[in-house]
Amino acid sequence: MSADPRRALPRTDVVLDDPRLRASTGRLGSDSVKAAVVAALAEARSGVLPIAEIADRAYDLLPHLATELQSVINATGVVLHTNLGRAPLSAAAIEALTAATGYVDVEFDLAGGVRAGRGRSALAALRTAVPAAEQVMVVNNGASALLLAVTTLAPGREVIVSRGEMVEIGDNFRLPDLMTSTGAVIREVGTTNRTSLADYAHAIGPETGCIVKIHPSNFLVTGFTSSVPLTDLATLPVPVIADIGSGLLAPEPLLPDEPDVASSLAAGAEVVTCSGDKLLGGPQTGLIFGDAALLERMRRHPLARALRCDKLTLAALEATLRGPRTPTFLALHADSRQLRVRCDLLADALTARVVPSAGTVGGGGAPGVELPGWAVALDSRLAAPLRVGATPVVGRVTGGQLLLDLRCVPPADDIRVRDAVLAARGSLPNGRVS
Ligand SMILES: *Cc1c(COP(=O)(O)O)cnc(C)c1O
Repeated sequence: MSADPRRALPRTDVVLDDPRLRASTGRLGSDSVKAAVVAALAEARSGVLPIAEIADRAYDLLPHLATELQSVINATGVVLHTNLGRAPLSAAAIEALTAATGYVDVEFDLAGGVRAGRGRSALAALRTAVPAAEQVMVVNNGASALLLAVTTLAPGREVIVSRGEMVEIGDNFRLPDLMTSTGAVIREVGTTNRTSLADYAHAIGPETGCIVKIHPSNFLVTGFTSSVPLTDLATLPVPVIADIGSGLLAPEPLLPDEPDVASSLAAGAEVVTCSGDKLLGGPQTGLIFGDAALLERMRRHPLARALRCDKLTLAALEATLRGPRTPTFLALHADSRQLRVRCDLLADALTARVVPSAGTVGGGGAPGVELPGWAVALDSRLAAPLRVGATPVVGRVTGGQLLLDLRCVPPADDIRVRDAVLAARGSLPNGRVS
């Protein structure tokens, strides 16, 4: 009687006894490791895997991490890509974040042994970065910052907003809806293309809580247009909240039309709100700057507790502010000649062509600004296999070509891009694509 191969299959717990798999259980959890063993056993049962290789195969099938979230190489040339998680953190921020994962003194005074202001070192760094701000506050994201500011300044009252600033920030979320969700009533003034100071002035009445000026951070209105500068709005007898969106703390010469916190405060805004993970290049946060009394009311508002951010975020934000240039800054300022040299090397290795490529800031700000650079042009059929390869690479398909723009790729990753393209080419039927 010939042996049934299934009889000889080892039991799951015997395979799990492999030292490498046992070690992985401590890192990935027993469910992931068991699932890999079960999958390897199934392959052996169906005859495609020799029994002697079951443990090896299970080890290969293990996930790299205990999360399915995948790290991605951003070769789109879009610096702040919301779908790819916006700003990548600096090494300094990653270190600080990692250090904060255990017990930390986020809300505790070690010298006195008593409770202390939450995230006080991050707030101090923010005050240092924007001396013009009387007070600062950090919440979960830009939308939270605007929500808290409007709820505090116009509870159940009117908020005056220009019709040219009724912005949808993405995925069907609209800032006017966000503001009315607080019980405030939007008083629209002006038209889509033009709003004057008189429009605002006429709308002010006993029910007015504040004016909100929103920076159109993801679209441009050109032609016959006018909007009212903050300096003029500040002459009106109601507080002005400026939602500047992108989180530049000071003017950025490369992006002259992008508002910044210091200038907005100097122009007379009582409160300025923005995101921390756009041009500031930090973790997802909402930053609030301005009048000390108003910010104290926000800090004491019950909603503040629901919108607060965690210790990891506070640590990463502080290190972003105190640390070296962020990856966002470096991508924004990448030198076109250096990009060309890197693209030439990559193109040589892949026998491909280099073409001019305009990078963009992305949904995080500066609509219409083109950042001159270069890309390696490849067969567009490579886009899909590159996205799902062992190292996912996301490029930009345009004009029937796949462009890999190295602006947002750390130079040390160029070689991983090369290897990913070679692997993707190998995965295509009949191989010969350029
Ligand atoms: C991005 C943006 C927001 C939303 O900020 P999140 O951090 O994404 O919540 C709000 N207002 C403006 C003007 C923005 O550009």
